[in-house]
Amino acid sequence: MEIKTFPLGPLQTNCFVLAGDKEAVAIDPGGDPTEVLNYLKANGLTLTHILNTHLHFDHTYGNKALADATGAPILCGDDDLSLLDSWLGKGGDMGLPLVDMYTPQTVAPGEHSFAGFACTVFHTPGHSTGSLTFYFPEAKAAFVGDLIFYRSIGRTDFPGGDLDVLKSSVTDYIFTLPSDTLLLSGHGQQTTAGDEKNHNPFFSEF
Ligand SMILES: [Zn+2]
Repeated sequence: MEIKTFPLGPLQTNCFVLAGDKEAVAIDPGGDPTEVLNYLKANGLTLTHILNTHLHFDHTYGNKALADATGAPILCGDDDLSLLDSWLGKGGDMGLPLVDMYTPQTVAPGEHSFAGFACTVFHTPGHSTGSLTFYFPEAKAAFVGDLIFYRSIGRTDFPGGDLDVLKSSVTDYIFTLPSDTLLLSGHGQQTTAGDEKNHNPFFSEF
């Protein structure tokens, strides 16, 4: 099992690939996925799914190209589909490029299996209404998108954002994970559930 990180696109969004011996899953391809495709090819890996923690444009720039090249379905949270009608989903604002539009499918919270790995999908709104966290117990890793960062949290000032909801998502679903669980965020460095529970300044009550 291997987790590779590829910062992609104009905002250097972390695209992660969780790979087994023969299959892999990609999380949030936020730019040209050539590096990801090269990695898959070099290691003889079949991409089974593209998982989106949320549908903000900087996490989805590479969705269509990666799906077209691999045939993998794109999965996202139901409550984020409405973002595709706004600049947050389409891009094109602030001088940034438009998203090459893609066709996502929704995935329900609960127990799933991706690339042969058990995965629990949590609905963790707050940064967006449909934000998901993908928790892979065997990898001791949770892909949290822009819910929580090393010593920080995701923005809640975009439409659909809500600080109280975000904090509840973190305390209910992230801080209850085993403390050594890696938190792999959409931007910046990795951390762990226990480290953030003890040191994240937005949760000083812990
Ligand atoms: Zn976002």
